[in-house]
Amino acid sequence: MFDYLIVGAGFAGSVLAERLATRSNKKVLVVDKRNHIAGNAYDHYNEDGILVHKYGPHIFHTNSKDVFEYLSDFTDWRPYEHRVLASVDGQLVPMPINLDTINKLYGLKLNSFEVEEFFASVAEQVPVVKTSEDVVVSKVGRELYEKFFRNYTRKQWGMDPSELDKSVTSRVPTRTNRDDRYFTDTYQAMPLHGYTRMFERLLDHPNIKVMLNTDYHDIIDFIPFKEMIFTGPVDEFFDFKYGKLPYRSLEFKHETLNTENYLAAPVVNYPNDNLYTRITEFKALTGQQHPKTAIVYEYPKAEGDPYYPVPRLENAELYNKYKKLADNTPNVHFVGRLATYKYYNMDQVVAQALTLYKKLTEKSDDTVRKPAIAGSTELVEKLVSRDPAKP
Ligand code: FAD
Ligand code: UDP
Repeated sequence: MFDYLIVGAGFAGSVLAERLATRSNKKVLVVDKRNHIAGNAYDHYNEDGILVHKYGPHIFHTNSKDVFEYLSDFTDWRPYEHRVLASVDGQLVPMPINLDTINKLYGLKLNSFEVEEFFASVAEQVPVVKTSEDVVVSKVGRELYEKFFRNYTRKQWGMDPSELDKSVTSRVPTRTNRDDRYFTDTYQAMPLHGYTRMFERLLDHPNIKVMLNTDYHDIIDFIPFKEMIFTGPVDEFFDFKYGKLPYRSLEFKHETLNTENYLAAPVVNYPNDNLYTRITEFKALTGQQHPKTAIVYEYPKAEGDPYYPVPRLENAELYNKYKKLADNTPNVHFVGRLATYKYYNMDQVVAQALTLYKKLTEKSDDTVRKPAIAGSTELVEKLVSRDPAKP
């Protein structure tokens, strides 16, 4: 008998499993259809022994002391401030656009005040900033928008920035100083021994059982549990009743190169050339010393594993229909990037999970959902006693 069936061993599912098991003494079963824990934050040593992120670069940053302190119980950290260069007009220049970007791109020697005047002189008047195009052209004008944002966004999302909510390009600021960090959050660090190790510690508790390679559909009728926490795609949960919610996918092309260093920065963005959006060199993120280096290319695509909800009005409206269903589904709680259709970073998902945990502990409903198939308890015992480390 489980108190909770948690679908998904990513940040949302694992944080809730940890809280419920250790703080509320609940018995928890975590299932994931993949052959590993950690969701999209999963990292592993590749065949050359280099730590890589299977699903693209994951850089931890947050302004939340609570989130940082919470995760610090499960990992030590390596201080790391992320930097990105963009390949534009045959040069590598800092991204986000800052004073050095403008000076290098145009061969100028402006100071902070002059670059502010420059931005003001090229910025377009936009009465109400609504779209991802509005955000950029209203700050830095059309030319810089075309060079840095328009084509990258079209590649990444398969649509024009004018069709996307302002929140997408608002993730990337514009600066008049020389700060070339990608993020300015108070806490910026990488888990010292990687994300997967941190998740192993989150899930390491006698009250938590983990079943990998398991779609929850395949076990739900055999498992007695009281409540479910669902962290997969919300439209899938409801059998696409109102139609498919669009998610953007990526193909990751991993390579190991026989050279110690490859890129001029941890990440290089290619707004205008190539089919991929960016290349990441993992050793720059993890600090690992190794005679070879591992990189990943990201090729955006429409079909495939859902990685990004697509922020635009019509999708928000469709999601709201699913949210109504979700809110009216007793004893099932929806949390995480896919289940709440929010373009959330890791720290936001952790915060969302901690908030849900608080809510759950305020309410207590002990109705037992009986197994649909009689005599299935022994089968469950067998299934959950499998070693999660062995796919
Ligand atoms: P997920 O990690 O997606 O976990 C959901 C889990 O549910 C998955 O493991 C899935 O297999 C499982 N599941 C789904 N359906 C079923 C089913 N039917 N049965 C069983 N299991 C199921 N965030 C940052 O803060 N910094 C970054 O630098 C960063 N970089 C990113 C780069 C890329 C390319 C991507 C795609 C995301 C990035 N993120 C980053 C976001 C980060 O990955 C997410 O915020 C976080 O991983 C979401 O956690 P989650 O638990 O909501 O979802
Ligand atoms: N973006 C862009 N050019 C860049 C970097 C970002 O146009 O060089 C836009 C693009 O639409 C991207 C969004 O800003 O999807 C958010 O960028 P971020 O780096 O936060 O994307 P993520 O790491 O989540 O993929």
